[in-house]
This record gives sequence, structure tokens and C-alpha cells, in this order.
Amino acid sequence: MKENVLDIALVKEACPLCAKTEDGPIIMNSILTTDRAKKVEELNGKVIGMMDKPCSECQELMKQGILLIGVIDSKSNDHVNPYRSGNQWVVSEEFVRKSFDSKSAEAVVKKGASFFSVEAAHKMGFPECNLKA
Ligand SMILES: [Zn+2]
Repeated sequence: MKENVLDIALVKEACPLCAKTEDGPIIMNSILTTDRAKKVEELNGKVIGMMDKPCSECQELMKQGILLIGVIDSKSNDHVNPYRSGNQWVVSEEFVRKSFDSKSAEAVVKKGASFFSVEAAHKMGFPECNLKA
């Protein structure tokens, strides 16, 4: 049986905001051994990391205003990749400037998006807060 020394895989990357996955790059092994080819084959369809920009859905929402991504603070131990509640809200720049301290507000407005505690959102009367995510 002839074994492959070269393989390619279509890998996935996650949106840094909502964490949905999209097709990422196509990768192949550059060292032509069956071992390396097998490792590439195993990566096919797997999520290998974060995209360097938000997914197309998040980008679309960010055109409408500031995108807030709901997160569950008590289940989050990584502020770069927190536990998401599945909530997404679009708010105005004005809302951000009123609700965040001025330094944070400036950063959020500049970035166009932020993670936002779903419990805080609930207290502020945001719709459909997924508190039990
Ligand atoms: Zn996204």
C-alpha cells in the first residue's frame, strides 16, 4: 500500500468576537513524510485558532453601531476568549459613552465592539439576556 507523503486540509478559524467558525486557510505539509501528511489530514475541518478580524456577520452588525457580545463572567477565565452567552446587541456610541468609564468607552468606540457581561445587560434591561448559557 502506497502511503501519502503530502496532504492538504481545510481548517477553520473562530471569530474573535462571537466565536462562530468559518473556513480558514488551506494548509499542507512542507516536509514530505507520511507522518507529517497524517498530521495535516487530522487537521481537516478542525478549528485551529482565531481569525485576525471579526466574521462577516459581526462586521455587518458593526456597521449598524457598537456590537456588544454577551459573556458569562462567572464562567469566563480568559478575557481574550470569554464564555459567550450567545447574545449580541448593537448599541449607539452615545450609549457606550454613558455606560462605560471614559477611557474604556474610547477604546470600545474605536474598536467598534466589546464583550459585555450578560448579568449587567440584564440589569440594564437589555432584551433576551441568556443568563443560563
Ligand atoms: Zn463573529
